[in-house]
Amino acid sequence: MSKIEQTLSIIKPDAVERKLENEIKEIFKNKGFSILKEKKIQIEKNEAEKFYKVHETKPFYNDLCSYLSSGPIVVMVLEKNNAVLENRELMGATNPEDAQDGTIRKKYGISIDKNSVHGSDSVENAKIEIDFFFKD
Ligand code: UDP
Ligand code: MG
Repeated sequence: MSKIEQTLSIIKPDAVERKLENEIKEIFKNKGFSILKEKKIQIEKNEAEKFYKVHETKPFYNDLCSYLSSGPIVVMVLEKNNAVLENRELMGATNPEDAQDGTIRKKYGISIDKNSVHGSDSVENAKIEIDFFFKD
């Protein structure tokens, strides 16, 4: 069973800084994702703290929020059958060292914190995250 879903993808500061934005977008398109919405923005640290609130008790939370707000990011709504899971598979493991060949994090990730992309981890969170960035 497959169904059309939308998921939130972010090209993180390390990848935007290395001018990988177009290359990564091509990977999504070649895998059949439609980019329904996109914008390049820089967020404030307090917005990053809201976005990553689920991680607020983690030791890496403060650095993570500083990092996400450290430079421009590209936020996108991706659409495809089973988009949430397929995007997670295409991204690869959180730590690029553990990511499979052919994944975005394997190809571009620098480290567990500078891992080039974000993707929603469930359909429910995808809705929340899309609203976070694209609610009018
Ligand atoms: N992260 C980190 N150190 C860790 C675990 C995670 O810096 O030990 C960062 C990393 O950038 C990751 C983000 O926190 O992408 C969110 O963590 P999560 O476990 O949700 O990983 P993801 O869903 O991005 O694979
Ligand atoms: Mg996550």
